[in-house]
Amino acid sequence: VLPQVGGQCAELYADKPIYDIPALPVSTGRELIERLQRQIAPMGAEFHLGQEVTRLTPRTDRRFEVETSAGLQFNAGCVFIAAGVGAFRPRRLAVQELARFEGTQLWYHAPPPAAWAGRKLVIVGGGDEALDAVIRLAGRSGTPDAPASLTLVHRRDHFQAEASSIAELARLRDTGAVQFVAGQITGAESIIAADGQARLGDLQITGGDGAVQTLPADVVWVRLGLVPQLGPIAQWGVALERKLVVVDTEKFETSVPGIYAIGDVNSYPGKKKLIVCGFHEATLAAYAAAAHLWPERRIQLEYTTSSKRLHKLLGVDTPGD
Ligand SMILES: Cc1cc2nc3c(=O)[nH]c(=O)nc-3n(C[C@H](O)[C@H](O)[C@H](O)COP(=O)(O)OP(=O)(O)OC[C@H]3O[C@@H](n4cnc5c(N)ncnc54)[C@H](O)[C@@H]3O)c2cc1C
Repeated sequence: VLPQVGGQCAELYADKPIYDIPALPVSTGRELIERLQRQIAPMGAEFHLGQEVTRLTPRTDRRFEVETSAGLQFNAGCVFIAAGVGAFRPRRLAVQELARFEGTQLWYHAPPPAAWAGRKLVIVGGGDEALDAVIRLAGRSGTPDAPASLTLVHRRDHFQAEASSIAELARLRDTGAVQFVAGQITGAESIIAADGQARLGDLQITGGDGAVQTLPADVVWVRLGLVPQLGPIAQWGVALERKLVVVDTEKFETSVPGIYAIGDVNSYPGKKKLIVCGFHEATLAAYAAAAHLWPERRIQLEYTTSSKRLHKLLGVDTPGD
C-alpha cells in the first residue's frame, strides 16, 4: 500500500534507533530497511509499490490468483501474507476544499523535496510523526531544498511525543525556525493561478475557542498517524482470530495450504511481534513453500557459507568455488 518498502520501520520510526536486531547493536528503522534491501538485491525481487492486494483467490490447479488495486494480476504458486497490522491508511483531514490538492499541495505520505522547497510548508499533527518531520525539515534551513517557512498546526499546544522531540520543538519555536498555530484546519481557499489552474490559498484554522484565523500555505503535509486496517485480507478465506491470521509454527501456513502468514499479521501460541521473530517465521515458511511448490524434491538445508548453489544465486561464486 505504501509508496516505499519497510512497513512500520520505514513509516513509523525511520529515524529512531532499534537495539535488538542480532549483530546490529543499533540501527535506525531506515538503515535496517536499507541493509535488508541490499542483502536481498541479488534475488532480483520485483516490487509493486503504492497499491493494495485486494483479491486472493485459489485456482483449481493449486495456484492462486492475486490482484492489486492498480489492476495488476499474478498467477502465484504460493503466497506469503506479510501484511503487519494491516494496510496502513493515513488518518485524513475532513476538509472537502483540500481534497482536490492531494498529491500536489496536500500530502499524506512524505512529499518529494521539490514540493516544499522554497515554499510555505504546513505540517499537521501533534505526535512523534509530526514532530519528527518538523525537526527534520527545520534542520534543512539554509539548504536549497529548505521550505520558505515551516508551520506546525495541532489542535492544542500539547504534544504526545518523545520528551526530547518536544524540547527540540520548543527550541525551534523560540528561535523562530518553526511557527506554531493551535487549532484545526476547517477550510481552505482555492485561487486560480496565472496558468488557469486552481492552487491552494489560505487555510482556515479554527481554535479551541472557536476563533478562526487564516494561514497562508503552499503545501500541507498531514502527519496525524496511520490507521491500520486488516482490509481485504478478511475476505481471502484464511482462518482469522482476533483480526490476525492463524498459522502453525512448523510451516507458518494458514488454513489454506500454499498461503503462509509471517510477521505481525499472524497468530500462534506465544507469538511476539518482533522483527527477529519475523525473520525466523519467514525462514521456516520459505522451506515449507519450497516443499509445497516442488513436492517431488527433497528440500535440503543449505548453509550460505558453503553452498555453491547459494553462492551462485548471491553472485559471490568464484571460479575455484
Ligand atoms: C514505534 C515502534 C517501534 C518498534 N520498535 C521495535 C524494536 O525496537 N524491535 C522490534 O523487534 N520490533 C519493533 N517494533 C515492531 C516491528 O516494527 C514490527 O514487529 C515489524 O514491523 C513487523 O513487520 P511486518 O513485516 O510483519 O509488518 P509491517 O512492518 O506492518 O509491514 C506490513 C506492510 O504490509 C503492507 N500491507 C498490509 N496490507 C496490505 C495489502 N492488502 N496490500 C499491500 N500491502 C499491504 C503495509 O502497508 C505495510 O507496508 C516497533 C514497532 C513500532 C510501531
